[in-house]
Amino acid sequence: MLAAAICLPVPLRRSFDYRVDATLAGRLRRGCRVRVPFGRRTLVGVVVGAPRELPEGADELRDIEAVLDDEPPIPAELLALCEWAADYYLHPLGEVLAAALPAALRRGAMPATAQTGGYALTAAGRAALEILPPRHRAQRSLLQALSTAPRSRADLAATAAVLRRALDAGWIEAADAPAATPASGTPTPTPEQAAALDRLAAGDAGFAVHLLEGVTGSGKTELYLRRIEAALAEGRQALLLAPEISLTPQLDARLRERFGDGVHRFHSTLTDRAREQVWLRARDGRARIVVGTRSAVWLPFARLGLIVVDEEHDTSYKQQDGFRYSARDVAILRAQRLDVPVLLGTATPSLESLHNARSGRYRHIRLQRRVHDTPPPQVRVLDVRGLPLDHGLSPPLLQAVDRHLDQGGQALLFLNRRGYAPVLLCHACGWNAPCTHCDAHLTLHRGRNRLICHHCGAQQAVPRHCPSCSATSLIAVGAGTERIEQALANRFPQYRVARFDSDRITSHEALERQLADIREGRAQILVGTQILAKGHDFPGLSLVGIVSADQALYGTDFRAVERMGQLVTQVAGRAGRAGQPGEVWLQTHEPEHPLLQTLARDGYGALCDALLAERRDTGLPPYAHLALLRAEAREAGQALRFLQLVRPCFEAPDVTVYEPLPSGMERRAGLARAQLLLQSASRAALHRSLGAVVARLQQMPEARRLRWSVDVDPYDLM
Ligand code: ADP
Ligand code: ZN
Ligand code: ZN
Repeated sequence: MLAAAICLPVPLRRSFDYRVDATLAGRLRRGCRVRVPFGRRTLVGVVVGAPRELPEGADELRDIEAVLDDEPPIPAELLALCEWAADYYLHPLGEVLAAALPAALRRGAMPATAQTGGYALTAAGRAALEILPPRHRAQRSLLQALSTAPRSRADLAATAAVLRRALDAGWIEAADAPAATPASGTPTPTPEQAAALDRLAAGDAGFAVHLLEGVTGSGKTELYLRRIEAALAEGRQALLLAPEISLTPQLDARLRERFGDGVHRFHSTLTDRAREQVWLRARDGRARIVVGTRSAVWLPFARLGLIVVDEEHDTSYKQQDGFRYSARDVAILRAQRLDVPVLLGTATPSLESLHNARSGRYRHIRLQRRVHDTPPPQVRVLDVRGLPLDHGLSPPLLQAVDRHLDQGGQALLFLNRRGYAPVLLCHACGWNAPCTHCDAHLTLHRGRNRLICHHCGAQQAVPRHCPSCSATSLIAVGAGTERIEQALANRFPQYRVARFDSDRITSHEALERQLADIREGRAQILVGTQILAKGHDFPGLSLVGIVSADQALYGTDFRAVERMGQLVTQVAGRAGRAGQPGEVWLQTHEPEHPLLQTLARDGYGALCDALLAERRDTGLPPYAHLALLRAEAREAGQALRFLQLVRPCFEAPDVTVYEPLPSGMERRAGLARAQLLLQSASRAALHRSLGAVVARLQQMPEARRLRWSVDVDPYDLM
């Protein structure tokens, strides 16, 4: 009796044994898909263990209904990576595989054929050409035509039958016709870039992590292009991860300019079919370069030779629900397993990467100068205590805006909060529009005339009267981007304001239009959220105003100040034009805050020094490893009681297990949430403890009555 271990798309951290008939056993390879009965359903699963003898009890096993593949659609390397990730993140392998497989394959469909532009000669084809007798005229002329270079289908005279026969014989293979030669020349590297390139190339032999730290405009992207070029020259593929590629059209445009049609985009707004095409092309090696968001790290590359992670500090690399993984960390691990280099680029490294670079685990390469030699901007802390604020803007900041616009410059106002105002308050009784599903206020959106919850999406009409006391004295408290936009439009009617936030920028085209308005001088004032920190070039920008730095300073999230420092530095990096330094003003009610002072006076690097010292003293990452057990339930208190119940199970040497607490925002989307924090200086100890508990939780009846999940290396503790 033979049985095979099958991984199923169910939220259970285990595989299931199924009986295999001896005639099928030979076909069952790891990575092949099968159809199996599960409860009363039929599911598509993936073989994770080759068939083996089962001595006893095997009669109770159910049979595999059908084997769907002869060749595993998932390459062995990717399957092993998924297994590693399931283990590391303590997440069910079935759900990890779901992240790595196109939707149609998950449902059991046959893989589509990758649409092909053309064909190439294989080694077997080359050999065949030598010995094929002249009477095989059609085959000979096809192989002859391909002997110098791949050709597109349209260029080949062969009939479909001739092509079919050559494909079946393995003489030719589908291949993209060579891309049109890229249009532009490559710039000569500056001396600083040349030195960086030398160091990057020195790591060529295999796995190495390079942290490429350089201010905006220092030429990092140019170095990515060079390294990608080198990988392609060796016949390898390259993956470039970017935080949100629909927001970074310039990066995509530069890749295409340099590499033509060899560049494939992969992100969540593509259709399933388009994603599947890129997946197939990555697997057969024809997608030479993929630029993609987080999920592209799971593509089945045939010959991956380089991974670049742009803006490595960006929070969007961490998936914050379901399978909570960090694409940056998975990229590093994958590069290690493949023995290829990985390049992390940023102007503002995460404290983790900086720490790894300083301790010698990563190679630290720095670009200190901007290519066009614009001096770095001056950052000034603007004490707004006691000043009259016009919708959150102080007189000195407004005067600076006035002065810069008057001199033909452009001004950018940054505020990481969209909507008109975060609170709608009744001045008569103190009612303040709450979300009925979350412990949060509804944000007032004037444009849409709605109150919207930014945590669960619930919305309602804006009331005219206070629902509690019927007074009409409802006032908007605090400012969001919409309000700042309106205040500036009123104040500077002769100039145009362009707003950049996810309410206004709903498509690639909308973004392009607004960027063009700024570039071509039709709009002079920019107001926006972190979208403005995403690497856009604003050559006319001379002033940046940070509307408020205070939220981060009051925040309870241990990464809040790090993130504030990154955003301020990124946004500030947009200022300065044609050799003139830009001006950056930072409004605050905490002008003496030492961290803010450090950032303004000495820059991001000095802020990192201070934050790293703090993290060391408090035992936070990168000096310790964290994991959260999260739980959520409809009934108030249930999640917390559950965590209190399981807490003793975690006790293990070298692991600190904290008292379970309600989450920062306890109720969200109607669920009451709680979390239990684990901390350890030893990753191995932390994982041992987590692994043991997760195995037990799966058996506990209490655990089935609510939702629980593990968050390894949590991004925040909220
Ligand atoms: P970063 O990615 O660090 O912001 P980029 O690579 O985008 O920097 O370079 C900033 C600008 O300088 C871009 O417009 C780029 O085309 C240009 N640039 C980069 N390297 C060179 C070079 N060696 N010579 C001339 N221009 C360059
Ligand atoms: Zn009221
Ligand atoms: Zn809500």
